[in-house]
Amino acid sequence: MSYIWEEFTISSPKLFDLLSKVDLHLHSHFSDGLVFPNDVVSQAQNKGYKYISVTDHNSIGGYDQKLLKQCQENPINLIPGVEMDCGQGLDILVYDKLSNSISPEFLTQIGAITKSENSKRLDVASNCLKVIIKSLDKYNFPWLNWPTWDDNQKQKFISKFTTENLLKINLDSGELDIQGRDYYISKSHIIRLALVLDLINVPKFNEHFQVDNPKKTGKKLKKILFKDFCHWEYDESGVDESLLTRLKKTGFVLVLAHPGKAYEDSEPKSISESSFRQFVAHTFRNFQLDGVECQYRNYKDQPFDYNKIAFESLKSIANNKKVIITAGSDSHKGFPG
Ligand SMILES: [Zn+2]
Repeated sequence: MSYIWEEFTISSPKLFDLLSKVDLHLHSHFSDGLVFPNDVVSQAQNKGYKYISVTDHNSIGGYDQKLLKQCQENPINLIPGVEMDCGQGLDILVYDKLSNSISPEFLTQIGAITKSENSKRLDVASNCLKVIIKSLDKYNFPWLNWPTWDDNQKQKFISKFTTENLLKINLDSGELDIQGRDYYISKSHIIRLALVLDLINVPKFNEHFQVDNPKKTGKKLKKILFKDFCHWEYDESGVDESLLTRLKKTGFVLVLAHPGKAYEDSEPKSISESSFRQFVAHTFRNFQLDGVECQYRNYKDQPFDYNKIAFESLKSIANNKKVIITAGSDSHKGFPG
């Protein structure tokens, strides 16, 4: 284990001091974040963070030489990382062994894995767009502009409602100005493009569904679109064990992201501290992980302190082994303030 990861082990005496200056779970435009990686890094530098990682979903596209240089020149430790979606809420954060450089092995091996995962995703998204377009004629909702359009307008919409544009859409501005998203597409990209292309009459939509805050329009639309119009197969897929095995074989550092969220998505019969404890221990052992994100900063309405219980659970099974503990905000908007 390299020096930086030694610092993160459960037995390290300064672990909790360190974790207060750490955010190893951040997103950027290279998946579904609203900021560019260099802005994330600048904000972390200003706030005095010691270690950070931009962990986009299924993408390491944000790690270019310019970004690494920015970290070398204004010291902060940027650990190359990625958040891999392994199904059923099981997200695994995969990190390189050193900071401020990206190893050729990480680039090739993780690059190959993200590429194959994302090409499947691209097919799912492409199919979804087709289904949405096909089903539009079926609906005559007052909040849908489609029934009011003539053939030219419909054709114009169809020609722009494409996976090419989903890969370019900037979730923040709505402009089609992102390069190199690496074929990662989420439901949020589809929603944003539908709104940008004016498929939805937003005032009527908000009135119809009593959406009082315009910032929540997208969230509501996501529910409607993927319930009534189109099925997003990742919502129902189970754990992808072959992907987990593939990740394990790379030898990089594997950390279970937000164990509380993963636990809730694993559909426990009843939510309890003891079954959560078992879930953490089982997942950690079963998939031979290296660590757990025991300081996740973005839990909402948790039934008990997931961070505390995850830490205790891990401590009880560590037995002098080098178990890693990490902290992360899962922020999609950079650092607050
Ligand atoms: Zn995340």
